[in-house]
Amino acid sequence: MPNRNRATRLEQFLKQNPICCLCGGTRPATSREHAPPRVMFVDKQRPKGIEVPACDRCNLGTANADQLAAFFCFSQALSLLEGKAKKREFRSFKKVLTAVANNNQSTQKFFTDFGTMFANVNGVFRPMRKVGINKKAVGDELNPWAVKQVLALWYNKTKIIVPENSVIFVRWFSLIEQKTNSRAETLRKSFPSFSTLSQGKLNADRQFSVRFKCETEFGTGQFHFSYHRSASFFALMFLKPEAADIARNGMLQTNFRQYSISSEQGIYEIQR
Ligand SMILES: [Zn+2]
Repeated sequence: MPNRNRATRLEQFLKQNPICCLCGGTRPATSREHAPPRVMFVDKQRPKGIEVPACDRCNLGTANADQLAAFFCFSQALSLLEGKAKKREFRSFKKVLTAVANNNQSTQKFFTDFGTMFANVNGVFRPMRKVGINKKAVGDELNPWAVKQVLALWYNKTKIIVPENSVIFVRWFSLIEQKTNSRAETLRKSFPSFSTLSQGKLNADRQFSVRFKCETEFGTGQFHFSYHRSASFFALMFLKPEAADIARNGMLQTNFRQYSISSEQGIYEIQR
């Protein structure tokens, strides 16, 4: 009786993890939230993921954001760009595209079109569209999603619920930016812990990896999440809001945006 078993597993999970870890620690958890979502993976094959307790509000209504995040990361996957992708990968990307279109979500806004340019392809000059990333739109749509990934990982690793009014800085990097920004690479390598998902022979490190540093004694966390070895984001978290003051100017100057959580609103952006 698989349904019965599933219900019992959920009950047990909620007994051990009774409070939602995504909105400050005051609302009862009613479900298990998975991070990253299945849609991020080829053929939706996610090895046993990071599972965290979520309340109704925090677990619902994020399917659209999951799809957009999957679209953004798949669209820059090196294997797809270089034409080295396997059939399964193409198929998964096409499915994500269809899902996004069916939900009437625009993906155009993520990109800015710089018009036609000529590129040398195997000795022949061909017209190509030159496309850039619209950072504002990517941040608007995907930063709250990124914050959720951070809260889930932190809880998974520390079992500490991030309190209300904590401050989380987030910034996405496109594939090109990562290749050209050596400081980002140096920063990433300074985070000592590495994590991916694997289960039996299924290892997801080509599709998902995270480097991080959780310092529970100071209440700070630093994270670099990477998907499909393409797009990625950095996040810096302060569980004591006053500690964030010291870092704020520097973070905002380097195009990070800041977020917080509350039981009333869930994840929200702090306006400067
Ligand atoms: Zn919640």
